[in-house]
Amino acid sequence: MKIPNYQTNVLSADVLIIGGSIAGLTAAVKIKELQEQLNVIVVDKGGIGWAGLVPIGGGYLIILPPDVNLDEWVKSIADRGEGLSNIKWLYNFGGSLYESMMEVFNWGLPFMKDPDGKLHMDDIPSWRVKEKMTVWVTHMVLPELKKRALAKGVKMIDKIETVDLLKNNGRIVGAIGFSIITGEFYVFKAKATLIASGACRFKNRRFWTMNCGEMVAAAYRAGAQHLHSEFGTIHANCSKECQMWFRGPSHQDALVNALGERIMTKYFPNISESFAKTAYAMAREVEAGRGPIYLDLSEKPIHHEKQEIQTVYNWIRTQGTFLNSDRILREKAGINLHFQKVEWIPGFIGGLGNIRIDLECKSPDIETLWVAGDALKTGISMEGAVPPGDYGGWGLPLAIVTGIKAAKSISKNFHETPEAKIVIEEQENLKEELYAPMALEKGYEPYDPVLNIQQAIVPAKYSIIRDQGRLKESLAIIEEVQKEVLPKVKAANPHELLKYHEARSMALCAEMIQKAALYRNETRGSHIREDYSERDDTNWLKWTVIKDVDGRMALSTIPVPKARA
Ligand SMILES: Cc1cc2nc3c(=O)[nH]c(=O)nc-3n(C[C@H](O)[C@H](O)[C@H](O)COP(=O)(O)OP(=O)(O)OC[C@H]3O[C@@H](n4cnc5c(N)ncnc54)[C@H](O)[C@@H]3O)c2cc1C
Repeated sequence: MKIPNYQTNVLSADVLIIGGSIAGLTAAVKIKELQEQLNVIVVDKGGIGWAGLVPIGGGYLIILPPDVNLDEWVKSIADRGEGLSNIKWLYNFGGSLYESMMEVFNWGLPFMKDPDGKLHMDDIPSWRVKEKMTVWVTHMVLPELKKRALAKGVKMIDKIETVDLLKNNGRIVGAIGFSIITGEFYVFKAKATLIASGACRFKNRRFWTMNCGEMVAAAYRAGAQHLHSEFGTIHANCSKECQMWFRGPSHQDALVNALGERIMTKYFPNISESFAKTAYAMAREVEAGRGPIYLDLSEKPIHHEKQEIQTVYNWIRTQGTFLNSDRILREKAGINLHFQKVEWIPGFIGGLGNIRIDLECKSPDIETLWVAGDALKTGISMEGAVPPGDYGGWGLPLAIVTGIKAAKSISKNFHETPEAKIVIEEQENLKEELYAPMALEKGYEPYDPVLNIQQAIVPAKYSIIRDQGRLKESLAIIEEVQKEVLPKVKAANPHELLKYHEARSMALCAEMIQKAALYRNETRGSHIREDYSERDDTNWLKWTVIKDVDGRMALSTIPVPKARA
Protein backbone atom coordinates (compact mmCIF):
# COMPACT_ATOMS: atom_id res chain seq x y z
CA MET A 1 0.00 0.00 0.00
CA LYS A 2 1.21 3.50 -0.76
CA ILE A 3 0.73 6.40 1.62
CA PRO A 4 -2.31 8.36 0.42
CA ASN A 5 -1.32 11.66 -1.12
CA TYR A 6 -2.74 13.91 1.58
CA GLN A 7 -2.82 17.64 1.15
CA THR A 8 -0.28 19.68 3.17
CA ASN A 9 -1.59 22.71 5.09
CA VAL A 10 0.97 25.21 6.33
CA LEU A 11 -0.24 27.65 8.99
CA SER A 12 1.80 30.42 10.57
CA ALA A 13 1.32 31.87 14.02
CA ASP A 14 3.17 33.95 16.55
CA VAL A 15 2.20 31.47 19.23
CA LEU A 16 1.19 27.85 18.75
CA ILE A 17 -0.63 26.23 21.67
CA ILE A 18 -0.88 22.44 21.56
CA GLY A 19 -3.88 21.35 23.67
CA GLY A 20 -7.03 23.40 24.07
CA SER A 21 -8.14 22.47 27.56
CA ILE A 22 -7.82 24.53 30.73
CA ALA A 23 -4.06 25.20 30.57
CA GLY A 24 -4.04 25.93 26.84
CA LEU A 25 -7.13 28.15 26.72
CA THR A 26 -6.14 30.06 29.87
CA ALA A 27 -2.77 30.80 28.27
CA ALA A 28 -4.40 31.80 24.97
CA VAL A 29 -6.74 34.32 26.62
CA LYS A 30 -3.97 35.75 28.77
CA ILE A 31 -1.56 36.17 25.83
CA LYS A 32 -4.23 38.13 23.94
CA GLU A 33 -4.84 40.28 27.00
CA LEU A 34 -1.16 41.10 27.24
CA GLN A 35 -0.34 41.39 23.53
CA GLU A 36 -3.52 41.80 21.55
CA GLN A 37 -1.73 41.86 18.19
CA LEU A 38 -0.22 38.37 18.54
CA ASN A 39 -1.57 35.71 16.27
CA VAL A 40 -2.39 32.73 18.54
CA ILE A 41 -3.44 29.30 17.23
CA VAL A 42 -4.72 26.55 19.54
CA VAL A 43 -4.77 23.00 18.14
CA ASP A 44 -6.36 20.01 19.80
CA LYS A 45 -6.86 16.41 18.83
CA GLY A 46 -10.38 16.55 20.24
CA GLY A 47 -13.15 19.12 20.03
CA ILE A 48 -12.10 22.26 21.87
CA GLY A 49 -14.59 22.98 24.64
CA TRP A 50 -15.25 19.31 25.30
CA ALA A 51 -11.87 17.63 25.03
CA GLY A 52 -9.45 17.13 27.88
CA LEU A 53 -10.01 16.14 31.47
CA VAL A 54 -12.00 19.16 32.62
CA PRO A 55 -15.54 18.41 31.37
CA ILE A 56 -15.56 14.95 32.90
CA GLY A 57 -13.66 15.96 36.03
CA GLY A 58 -14.57 16.78 39.58
CA GLY A 59 -14.36 20.58 39.50
CA TYR A 60 -12.93 21.11 43.00
CA LEU A 61 -10.02 23.53 43.18
CA ILE A 62 -7.75 24.45 46.06
CA ILE A 63 -7.12 28.09 46.75
CA LEU A 64 -4.87 29.89 49.23
CA PRO A 65 -6.50 33.04 50.56
CA PRO A 66 -4.30 36.17 50.63
CA ASP A 67 -3.82 36.00 54.41
CA VAL A 68 -2.45 32.45 54.34
CA ASN A 69 0.93 31.83 55.94
CA LEU A 70 2.79 30.74 52.82
CA ASP A 71 5.84 29.47 54.74
CA GLU A 72 3.63 27.17 56.82
CA TRP A 73 1.78 25.94 53.78
CA VAL A 74 5.00 25.20 51.88
CA LYS A 75 6.40 23.38 54.89
CA SER A 76 3.29 21.24 55.26
CA ILE A 77 3.52 20.07 51.64
CA ALA A 78 7.28 19.66 51.68
CA ASP A 79 7.09 17.51 54.83
CA ARG A 80 4.99 14.98 52.95
CA GLY A 81 7.31 15.13 49.94
CA GLU A 82 10.02 13.26 51.89
CA GLY A 83 12.85 15.56 50.81
CA LEU A 84 12.07 15.64 47.08
CA SER A 85 9.69 18.63 46.97
CA ASN A 86 10.66 21.53 44.79
CA ILE A 87 10.50 24.36 47.32
CA LYS A 88 10.98 27.09 44.71
CA TRP A 89 8.00 25.80 42.77
CA LEU A 90 5.88 25.51 45.91
CA TYR A 91 6.47 29.21 46.59
CA ASN A 92 6.01 30.00 42.91
CA PHE A 93 2.68 28.15 42.74
CA GLY A 94 1.37 29.00 46.22
CA GLY A 95 2.37 32.64 45.86
CA SER A 96 0.47 33.03 42.56
CA LEU A 97 -2.52 30.83 43.30
CA TYR A 98 -4.97 33.36 44.73
CA GLU A 99 -4.24 36.03 42.13
CA SER A 100 -4.48 33.55 39.22
CA MET A 101 -7.73 32.06 40.50
CA MET A 102 -9.24 35.50 40.99
CA GLU A 103 -8.20 36.40 37.48
CA VAL A 104 -10.10 33.52 35.89
CA PHE A 105 -13.01 34.07 38.29
CA ASN A 106 -13.20 37.64 36.98
CA TRP A 107 -13.22 36.32 33.41
CA GLY A 108 -16.65 34.95 34.26
CA LEU A 109 -15.89 31.25 34.63
CA PRO A 110 -18.77 29.42 36.33
CA PHE A 111 -17.49 29.29 39.91
CA MET A 112 -19.76 29.01 42.94
CA LYS A 113 -20.38 32.46 44.41
CA ASP A 114 -21.39 33.72 47.83
CA PRO A 115 -24.65 35.71 48.11
CA ASP A 116 -22.59 38.92 47.81
CA GLY A 117 -21.21 37.76 44.44
CA LYS A 118 -17.72 36.97 45.73
CA LEU A 119 -15.90 33.71 45.01
CA HIS A 120 -17.07 31.03 47.43
CA MET A 121 -14.22 29.48 49.43
CA ASP A 122 -14.79 26.63 51.84
CA ASP A 123 -12.79 25.00 54.57
CA ILE A 124 -11.96 21.36 54.02
CA PRO A 125 -11.05 19.97 57.43
CA SER A 126 -10.72 16.37 56.28
CA TRP A 127 -8.16 17.20 53.57
CA ARG A 128 -4.58 16.85 54.61
CA VAL A 129 -3.54 20.36 53.75
CA LYS A 130 -5.36 23.29 55.19
CA GLU A 131 -6.00 25.18 52.00
CA LYS A 132 -9.45 26.36 51.15
CA MET A 133 -11.44 24.91 48.36
CA THR A 134 -13.60 26.40 45.69
CA VAL A 135 -15.72 24.73 43.06
CA TRP A 136 -17.02 25.34 39.55
CA VAL A 137 -19.52 23.81 37.16
CA THR A 138 -16.94 21.73 35.44
CA HIS A 139 -18.65 20.95 32.14
CA MET A 140 -19.40 24.65 31.57
CA VAL A 141 -15.83 25.86 32.03
CA LEU A 142 -14.21 25.15 28.67
CA PRO A 143 -17.16 26.34 26.53
CA GLU A 144 -17.02 29.62 28.49
CA LEU A 145 -13.27 29.94 28.15
CA LYS A 146 -13.44 29.05 24.47
CA LYS A 147 -16.02 31.80 23.90
CA ARG A 148 -13.72 34.31 25.59
CA ALA A 149 -10.69 33.18 23.58
CA LEU A 150 -12.59 33.34 20.27
CA ALA A 151 -13.86 36.83 21.12
CA LYS A 152 -10.25 37.91 21.58
CA GLY A 153 -9.31 36.56 18.15
CA VAL A 154 -7.63 33.30 19.13
CA LYS A 155 -7.79 30.81 16.22
CA MET A 156 -8.67 27.20 16.96
CA ILE A 157 -8.33 24.00 15.01
CA ASP A 158 -9.95 20.80 16.24
CA LYS A 159 -9.14 17.16 15.52
CA ILE A 160 -5.45 17.61 14.80
CA GLU A 161 -3.13 15.04 16.31
CA THR A 162 0.15 16.85 16.88
CA VAL A 163 3.04 14.44 16.59
CA ASP A 164 6.39 16.20 16.58
CA LEU A 165 8.02 19.53 17.25
CA LEU A 166 10.00 21.29 14.52
CA LYS A 167 13.42 22.55 15.44
CA ASN A 168 15.95 24.86 13.88
CA ASN A 169 19.22 25.85 15.41
CA GLY A 170 18.32 24.97 19.00
CA ARG A 171 14.88 26.58 18.88
CA ILE A 172 11.42 25.17 18.44
CA VAL A 173 9.87 26.66 15.31
CA GLY A 174 6.49 24.89 15.36
CA ALA A 175 5.04 21.43 15.09
CA ILE A 176 3.60 18.90 12.66
CA GLY A 177 0.48 16.79 12.87
CA PHE A 178 -2.42 15.43 10.88
CA SER A 179 -6.18 15.66 10.78
CA ILE A 180 -7.67 12.62 12.44
CA ILE A 181 -10.72 13.07 10.17
CA THR A 182 -9.23 13.66 6.69
CA GLY A 183 -5.64 12.54 7.22
CA GLU A 184 -4.33 15.87 5.81
CA PHE A 185 -0.86 16.91 6.88
CA TYR A 186 -0.50 20.05 9.02
CA VAL A 187 2.59 22.16 9.48
CA PHE A 188 2.42 24.88 12.14
CA LYS A 189 5.13 27.49 11.95
CA ALA A 190 5.41 29.53 15.16
CA LYS A 191 7.80 31.85 16.95
CA ALA A 192 6.73 30.43 20.33
CA THR A 193 5.25 27.00 21.10
CA LEU A 194 3.38 26.06 24.25
CA ILE A 195 2.73 22.42 25.13
CA ALA A 196 -0.55 22.15 27.06
CA SER A 197 -1.54 18.64 26.04
CA GLY A 198 -1.74 16.99 29.44
CA ALA A 199 0.13 14.04 30.90
CA CYS A 200 0.52 10.51 29.55
CA ARG A 201 -2.40 8.48 30.93
CA PHE A 202 -1.86 5.15 29.14
CA LYS A 203 -5.54 4.70 28.18
CA ASN A 204 -6.14 2.35 31.07
CA ARG A 205 -9.25 3.77 32.72
CA ARG A 206 -12.39 5.47 31.59
CA PHE A 207 -12.15 9.28 31.71
CA TRP A 208 -8.36 9.14 31.29
CA THR A 209 -8.01 7.83 27.76
CA MET A 210 -7.33 10.92 25.67
CA ASN A 211 -3.86 12.02 26.71
CA CYS A 212 -1.11 9.68 25.69
CA GLY A 213 2.02 11.77 26.15
CA GLU A 214 2.61 12.60 22.49
CA MET A 215 4.13 15.97 23.36
CA VAL A 216 6.04 14.60 26.36
CA ALA A 217 7.64 12.24 23.85
CA ALA A 218 8.05 14.91 21.15
CA ALA A 219 9.82 17.23 23.61
CA TYR A 220 12.18 14.38 24.50
CA ARG A 221 12.98 13.75 20.84
CA ALA A 222 13.55 17.48 20.36
CA GLY A 223 16.14 17.57 23.17
CA ALA A 224 14.24 18.64 26.32
CA GLN A 225 15.20 17.04 29.59
CA HIS A 226 12.64 15.20 31.72
CA LEU A 227 12.63 15.03 35.51
CA HIS A 228 11.34 12.88 38.34
CA SER A 229 9.80 10.27 36.00
CA GLU A 230 9.67 7.42 38.52
CA PHE A 231 6.92 9.34 40.34
CA GLY A 232 4.92 9.79 37.12
CA THR A 233 2.10 7.33 37.65
CA ILE A 234 -0.68 6.90 40.12
CA HIS A 235 -3.27 4.26 40.88
CA ALA A 236 -6.59 5.72 41.98
CA ASN A 237 -9.20 3.13 42.93
CA CYS A 238 -12.62 2.35 41.61
CA SER A 239 -15.50 -0.11 41.55
CA LYS A 240 -14.78 -3.24 39.50
CA GLU A 241 -18.20 -2.80 37.90
CA CYS A 242 -18.26 0.17 35.53
CA GLN A 243 -15.03 1.60 36.99
CA MET A 244 -16.66 4.33 39.05
CA TRP A 245 -14.33 6.07 41.46
CA PHE A 246 -14.48 8.26 44.52
CA ARG A 247 -11.92 10.03 46.53
CA GLY A 248 -11.93 11.02 50.15
CA PRO A 249 -10.95 9.62 53.54
CA SER A 250 -14.37 8.16 54.33
CA HIS A 251 -14.38 5.80 51.38
CA GLN A 252 -10.71 4.96 51.88
CA ASP A 253 -11.42 3.99 55.51
CA ALA A 254 -14.26 1.77 54.35
CA LEU A 255 -12.08 -0.53 52.21
CA VAL A 256 -12.02 -4.04 53.65
CA ASN A 257 -10.35 -7.30 52.66
CA ALA A 258 -12.06 -10.66 52.18
CA LEU A 259 -11.92 -11.21 55.97
CA GLY A 260 -13.72 -7.94 56.57
CA GLU A 261 -10.63 -6.20 58.04
CA ARG A 262 -10.24 -2.50 57.36
CA ILE A 263 -7.09 -2.38 55.25
CA MET A 264 -6.03 1.23 55.67
CA THR A 265 -6.04 1.17 59.46
CA LYS A 266 -3.85 -1.92 59.19
CA TYR A 267 -1.11 -0.28 57.09
CA PHE A 268 -1.49 3.47 57.62
CA PRO A 269 -3.53 4.17 60.77
CA ASN A 270 -2.67 7.85 60.81
CA ILE A 271 -2.97 9.13 57.30
CA SER A 272 -5.95 10.77 55.74
CA GLU A 273 -6.56 10.44 52.04
CA SER A 274 -3.88 9.06 49.70
CA PHE A 275 -4.40 7.22 46.42
CA ALA A 276 -0.83 5.93 46.45
CA LYS A 277 -1.02 4.49 49.95
CA THR A 278 -4.44 2.97 49.31
CA ALA A 279 -3.13 1.23 46.18
CA TYR A 280 -0.20 -0.11 48.20
CA ALA A 281 -2.48 -1.52 50.92
CA MET A 282 -4.77 -3.10 48.33
CA ALA A 283 -1.83 -4.70 46.48
CA ARG A 284 -0.29 -6.08 49.68
CA GLU A 285 -3.58 -7.61 50.86
CA VAL A 286 -4.25 -9.28 47.53
CA GLU A 287 -0.65 -10.53 47.40
CA ALA A 288 -1.16 -12.09 50.85
CA GLY A 289 -4.25 -13.94 49.60
CA ARG A 290 -6.75 -11.77 51.46
CA GLY A 291 -8.39 -10.34 48.36
CA PRO A 292 -10.60 -9.27 46.82
CA ILE A 293 -11.00 -5.84 48.35
CA TYR A 294 -14.46 -4.39 48.92
CA LEU A 295 -15.88 -0.99 49.64
CA ASP A 296 -18.17 -1.49 52.60
CA LEU A 297 -20.06 1.60 53.59
CA SER A 298 -22.62 -0.25 55.69
CA GLU A 299 -21.16 1.09 58.93
CA LYS A 300 -20.46 4.59 57.74
CA PRO A 301 -22.64 7.09 55.93
CA ILE A 302 -21.35 7.62 52.42
CA HIS A 303 -19.07 10.63 51.96
CA HIS A 304 -19.10 11.65 55.58
CA GLU A 305 -16.51 14.33 54.72
CA LYS A 306 -19.08 15.80 52.39
CA GLN A 307 -20.94 16.98 55.47
CA GLU A 308 -18.01 19.32 55.99
CA ILE A 309 -18.49 20.74 52.53
CA GLN A 310 -22.25 20.40 52.48
CA THR A 311 -22.84 23.86 51.06
CA VAL A 312 -20.58 23.13 48.12
CA TYR A 313 -21.97 19.67 47.59
CA ASN A 314 -25.56 20.86 47.63
CA TRP A 315 -24.76 23.62 45.15
CA ILE A 316 -22.87 21.43 42.71
CA ARG A 317 -25.71 18.92 42.67
CA THR A 318 -28.07 21.59 41.41
CA GLN A 319 -25.77 22.50 38.52
CA GLY A 320 -26.14 19.32 36.47
CA THR A 321 -22.68 18.08 37.36
CA PHE A 322 -21.54 15.11 35.27
CA LEU A 323 -19.56 13.19 37.84
CA ASN A 324 -22.02 11.91 40.39
CA SER A 325 -20.48 8.62 41.42
CA ASP A 326 -23.38 7.28 43.52
CA ARG A 327 -25.87 7.87 40.72
CA ILE A 328 -23.67 6.39 38.00
CA LEU A 329 -23.08 3.22 40.00
CA ARG A 330 -26.77 2.93 40.73
CA GLU A 331 -27.87 3.51 37.16
CA LYS A 332 -25.13 1.70 35.24
CA ALA A 333 -24.45 -1.25 37.52
CA GLY A 334 -27.56 -1.47 39.68
CA ILE A 335 -25.42 -1.03 42.79
CA ASN A 336 -26.58 0.91 45.81
CA LEU A 337 -23.54 1.70 47.90
CA HIS A 338 -25.61 2.38 50.97
CA PHE A 339 -26.72 -1.24 51.17
CA GLN A 340 -24.18 -3.31 49.26
CA LYS A 341 -20.57 -4.30 49.68
CA VAL A 342 -18.91 -3.65 46.34
CA GLU A 343 -15.73 -5.13 44.90
CA TRP A 344 -13.14 -2.40 44.60
CA ILE A 345 -9.92 -2.41 42.53
CA PRO A 346 -6.91 -0.15 41.99
CA GLY A 347 -7.43 2.01 38.91
CA PHE A 348 -4.20 2.99 37.21
CA ILE A 349 -4.52 6.50 35.76
CA GLY A 350 -0.91 7.22 34.84
CA GLY A 351 0.06 10.88 34.88
CA LEU A 352 3.54 11.36 33.40
CA GLY A 353 4.06 15.06 32.65
CA ASN A 354 7.75 15.42 33.24
CA ILE A 355 9.10 18.03 30.82
CA ARG A 356 11.69 20.17 32.59
CA ILE A 357 10.82 23.86 32.79
CA ASP A 358 11.92 26.91 34.77
CA LEU A 359 9.80 29.06 37.09
CA GLU A 360 8.28 30.84 34.07
CA CYS A 361 7.27 27.50 32.51
CA LYS A 362 9.94 27.84 29.83
CA SER A 363 12.21 25.00 28.79
CA PRO A 364 15.78 25.72 29.91
CA ASP A 365 16.96 23.16 27.35
CA ILE A 366 15.44 24.40 24.08
CA GLU A 367 14.63 27.97 23.10
CA THR A 368 11.04 29.12 22.43
CA LEU A 369 9.36 26.14 24.09
CA TRP A 370 6.97 26.54 27.04
CA VAL A 371 4.86 23.99 28.94
CA ALA A 372 1.71 24.37 31.10
CA GLY A 373 -0.70 22.17 33.04
CA ASP A 374 -0.46 18.43 33.58
CA ALA A 375 2.38 18.17 31.03
CA LEU A 376 4.74 19.67 33.63
CA LYS A 377 3.19 18.40 36.84
CA THR A 378 5.53 15.47 37.53
CA GLY A 379 8.62 17.36 36.36
CA ILE A 380 8.27 20.29 38.77
CA SER A 381 8.07 17.84 41.67
CA MET A 382 6.13 20.10 44.03
CA GLU A 383 4.63 17.09 45.74
CA GLY A 384 8.04 15.43 46.07
CA ALA A 385 7.92 11.66 46.54
CA VAL A 386 4.16 11.63 45.96
CA PRO A 387 2.70 10.94 42.52
CA PRO A 388 0.67 13.55 40.61
CA GLY A 389 -2.99 13.42 41.62
CA ASP A 390 -2.40 12.23 45.19
CA TYR A 391 -3.32 15.75 46.28
CA GLY A 392 -6.96 16.33 45.38
CA GLY A 393 -7.91 19.62 43.73
CA TRP A 394 -4.43 20.59 42.49
CA GLY A 395 -4.60 19.76 38.77
CA LEU A 396 -6.98 22.53 37.70
CA PRO A 397 -5.35 25.30 39.79
CA LEU A 398 -1.91 24.26 38.53
CA ALA A 399 -3.14 24.42 34.93
CA ILE A 400 -4.53 27.92 35.56
CA VAL A 401 -1.41 29.20 37.35
CA THR A 402 1.00 27.76 34.79
CA GLY A 403 -1.18 28.81 31.84
CA ILE A 404 -0.96 32.39 33.10
CA LYS A 405 2.75 32.17 33.90
CA ALA A 406 3.55 30.74 30.46
CA ALA A 407 1.47 33.47 28.82
CA LYS A 408 3.32 36.21 30.69
CA SER A 409 6.68 34.69 29.83
CA ILE A 410 5.80 34.27 26.14
CA SER A 411 4.46 37.83 25.88
CA LYS A 412 7.46 39.34 27.63
CA ASN A 413 10.02 40.56 25.07
CA PHE A 414 8.07 38.82 22.30
CA HIS A 415 9.20 41.40 19.75
CA GLU A 416 12.77 40.13 20.26
CA THR A 417 11.82 36.54 19.38
CA PRO A 418 13.27 35.75 15.95
CA GLU A 419 11.13 34.68 12.98
CA ALA A 420 10.53 30.94 12.83
CA LYS A 421 12.26 29.25 9.91
CA ILE A 422 11.38 25.65 9.23
CA VAL A 423 14.04 23.28 7.92
CA ILE A 424 12.18 21.63 5.04
CA GLU A 425 14.31 18.50 5.12
CA GLU A 426 13.40 17.90 8.80
CA GLN A 427 9.73 18.55 8.06
CA GLU A 428 9.73 16.03 5.21
CA ASN A 429 11.60 13.38 7.23
CA LEU A 430 9.14 13.73 10.09
CA LYS A 431 6.24 13.58 7.64
CA GLU A 432 7.54 10.30 6.24
CA GLU A 433 7.83 8.85 9.77
CA LEU A 434 4.37 10.16 10.66
CA TYR A 435 2.62 8.34 7.81
CA ALA A 436 4.85 5.21 7.78
CA PRO A 437 2.16 2.87 9.24
CA MET A 438 -0.09 3.73 6.30
CA ALA A 439 2.43 2.22 3.88
CA LEU A 440 2.01 -1.25 5.39
CA GLU A 441 -0.62 -3.62 4.08
CA LYS A 442 -0.09 -6.31 6.68
CA GLY A 443 0.96 -5.99 10.28
CA TYR A 444 -0.18 -5.48 13.82
CA GLU A 445 -3.35 -3.61 14.68
CA PRO A 446 -2.62 -0.28 16.43
CA TYR A 447 -4.41 -1.58 19.52
CA ASP A 448 -1.89 -4.44 19.96
CA PRO A 449 0.99 -2.28 21.28
CA VAL A 450 -1.42 -0.36 23.54
CA LEU A 451 -2.30 -3.58 25.33
CA ASN A 452 1.35 -4.67 25.48
CA ILE A 453 2.39 -1.37 27.07
CA GLN A 454 -0.42 -1.55 29.59
CA GLN A 455 0.79 -5.03 30.54
CA ALA A 456 4.25 -3.59 31.18
CA ILE A 457 3.19 -0.66 33.30
CA VAL A 458 -0.17 -1.21 34.98
CA PRO A 459 0.20 -4.39 37.11
CA ALA A 460 1.03 -3.79 40.76
CA LYS A 461 4.22 -5.85 40.45
CA TYR A 462 5.60 -3.38 37.89
CA SER A 463 4.31 -0.17 39.38
CA ILE A 464 3.10 -0.27 42.99
CA ILE A 465 5.70 -2.64 44.45
CA ARG A 466 8.87 -2.59 42.38
CA ASP A 467 12.14 -4.51 42.29
CA GLN A 468 15.04 -4.75 39.89
CA GLY A 469 14.08 -8.10 38.34
CA ARG A 470 10.48 -7.10 37.69
CA LEU A 471 11.43 -3.66 36.36
CA LYS A 472 13.80 -5.33 33.91
CA GLU A 473 10.98 -7.67 32.89
CA SER A 474 8.74 -4.67 32.29
CA LEU A 475 11.46 -2.88 30.30
CA ALA A 476 11.95 -5.98 28.16
CA ILE A 477 8.25 -5.90 27.22
CA ILE A 478 8.52 -2.20 26.38
CA GLU A 479 11.64 -2.77 24.27
CA GLU A 480 9.93 -5.58 22.40
CA VAL A 481 7.02 -3.24 21.65
CA GLN A 482 9.39 -0.53 20.43
CA LYS A 483 11.59 -2.78 18.29
CA GLU A 484 9.27 -5.53 17.12
CA VAL A 485 5.68 -4.34 17.28
CA LEU A 486 5.50 -0.59 16.59
CA PRO A 487 7.52 -0.72 13.33
CA LYS A 488 5.06 -3.36 12.04
CA VAL A 489 1.83 -1.59 12.95
CA LYS A 490 -0.37 -0.88 9.96
CA ALA A 491 -2.88 1.95 9.83
CA ALA A 492 -5.69 1.73 7.32
CA ASN A 493 -7.12 5.19 8.04
CA PRO A 494 -6.35 8.40 9.97
CA HIS A 495 -8.09 7.08 13.08
CA GLU A 496 -5.79 4.06 13.22
CA LEU A 497 -2.84 6.34 12.52
CA LEU A 498 -3.85 8.33 15.62
CA LYS A 499 -3.90 5.14 17.68
CA TYR A 500 -0.43 4.24 16.39
CA HIS A 501 1.00 7.61 17.47
CA GLU A 502 -0.64 7.33 20.85
CA ALA A 503 0.89 3.87 21.34
CA ARG A 504 4.31 5.05 20.20
CA SER A 505 4.27 7.90 22.73
CA MET A 506 3.00 5.67 25.52
CA ALA A 507 5.90 3.28 24.87
CA LEU A 508 8.43 6.08 25.27
CA CYS A 509 6.72 7.41 28.41
CA ALA A 510 6.59 3.90 29.90
CA GLU A 511 10.29 3.51 29.18
CA MET A 512 11.05 6.77 31.01
CA ILE A 513 9.07 5.74 34.09
CA GLN A 514 10.50 2.27 34.37
CA LYS A 515 14.10 3.29 33.63
CA ALA A 516 13.94 6.01 36.27
CA ALA A 517 12.34 3.55 38.73
CA LEU A 518 15.17 1.10 38.10
CA TYR A 519 17.73 3.89 38.55
CA ARG A 520 16.45 5.06 41.95
CA ASN A 521 17.91 2.43 44.28
CA GLU A 522 15.90 3.23 47.40
CA THR A 523 12.36 3.33 48.76
CA ARG A 524 10.77 6.72 49.22
CA GLY A 525 7.14 7.83 49.21
CA SER A 526 5.23 6.04 46.49
CA HIS A 527 8.43 4.63 44.95
CA ILE A 528 8.63 1.28 46.72
CA ARG A 529 11.54 -1.01 45.89
CA GLU A 530 11.54 -4.39 47.64
CA ASP A 531 15.23 -4.82 46.87
CA TYR A 532 16.16 -1.39 48.30
CA SER A 533 13.63 -1.12 51.08
CA GLU A 534 15.18 1.82 52.99
CA ARG A 535 15.09 5.52 52.31
CA ASP A 536 18.65 6.63 51.42
CA ASP A 537 19.19 10.32 52.12
CA THR A 538 22.93 10.05 51.62
CA ASN A 539 22.61 9.20 47.94
CA TRP A 540 19.08 10.01 46.89
CA LEU A 541 18.09 13.54 47.87
CA LYS A 542 18.08 13.97 44.11
CA TRP A 543 15.76 14.13 41.12
CA THR A 544 16.36 11.80 38.23
CA VAL A 545 17.03 13.42 34.85
CA ILE A 546 16.32 11.80 31.50
CA LYS A 547 17.78 13.01 28.25
CA ASP A 548 18.19 11.73 24.73
CA VAL A 549 21.89 11.32 23.95
CA ASP A 550 22.48 10.22 20.35
CA GLY A 551 19.32 8.14 20.29
CA ARG A 552 19.96 6.58 23.72
CA MET A 553 17.94 7.34 26.86
CA ALA A 554 20.56 8.63 29.31
CA LEU A 555 19.86 8.91 33.04
CA SER A 556 21.55 11.08 35.63
CA THR A 557 20.58 12.99 38.77
CA ILE A 558 20.55 16.55 40.08
CA PRO A 559 20.48 17.37 43.79
CA VAL A 560 17.21 18.77 45.12
CA PRO A 561 17.91 22.43 45.93
CA LYS A 562 17.53 22.92 49.68
CA ALA A 563 16.50 26.52 50.00
CA ARG A 564 13.81 28.78 48.63
CA ALA A 565 16.12 31.14 46.73
C1 LIG B 1 -12.40 12.14 36.48
C2 LIG B 1 -11.48 13.29 36.80
C3 LIG B 1 -11.70 14.09 37.91
C4 LIG B 1 -10.86 15.16 38.19
N1 LIG B 1 -11.16 15.97 39.24
C5 LIG B 1 -10.39 17.04 39.49
C6 LIG B 1 -10.76 17.96 40.54
O1 LIG B 1 -11.81 17.85 41.18
N2 LIG B 1 -9.89 18.99 40.78
C7 LIG B 1 -8.73 19.17 40.09
O2 LIG B 1 -7.99 20.13 40.36
N3 LIG B 1 -8.39 18.33 39.07
C8 LIG B 1 -9.19 17.29 38.75
N4 LIG B 1 -8.86 16.46 37.71
C9 LIG B 1 -7.59 16.72 36.98
C10 LIG B 1 -7.72 17.93 36.03
O3 LIG B 1 -8.85 17.74 35.22
C11 LIG B 1 -6.43 18.07 35.21
O4 LIG B 1 -5.35 18.25 36.10
C12 LIG B 1 -6.51 19.27 34.26
O5 LIG B 1 -7.58 19.09 33.35
C13 LIG B 1 -5.20 19.43 33.47
O6 LIG B 1 -5.40 20.41 32.50
P1 LIG B 1 -4.53 20.46 31.17
O7 LIG B 1 -5.06 21.59 30.36
O8 LIG B 1 -3.10 20.43 31.52
O9 LIG B 1 -4.77 19.07 30.43
P2 LIG B 1 -6.11 18.27 29.92
O10 LIG B 1 -7.30 18.83 30.58
O11 LIG B 1 -5.76 16.90 30.09
O12 LIG B 1 -6.14 18.66 28.40
C14 LIG B 1 -5.16 18.29 27.47
C15 LIG B 1 -5.67 18.64 26.08
O13 LIG B 1 -4.65 18.35 25.12
C16 LIG B 1 -5.23 17.65 24.02
N5 LIG B 1 -4.19 16.82 23.43
C17 LIG B 1 -3.57 15.77 24.02
N6 LIG B 1 -2.65 15.27 23.17
C18 LIG B 1 -2.68 16.01 22.04
C19 LIG B 1 -1.97 15.98 20.81
N7 LIG B 1 -1.04 15.07 20.56
N8 LIG B 1 -2.28 16.90 19.87
C20 LIG B 1 -3.25 17.82 20.11
N9 LIG B 1 -3.96 17.89 21.25
C21 LIG B 1 -3.67 17.00 22.20
C22 LIG B 1 -6.38 16.87 24.62
O14 LIG B 1 -7.34 16.55 23.65
C23 LIG B 1 -6.90 17.83 25.69
O15 LIG B 1 -7.88 18.70 25.18
C24 LIG B 1 -9.71 15.40 37.37
C25 LIG B 1 -9.49 14.62 36.24
C26 LIG B 1 -10.38 13.58 35.93
C27 LIG B 1 -10.16 12.77 34.67
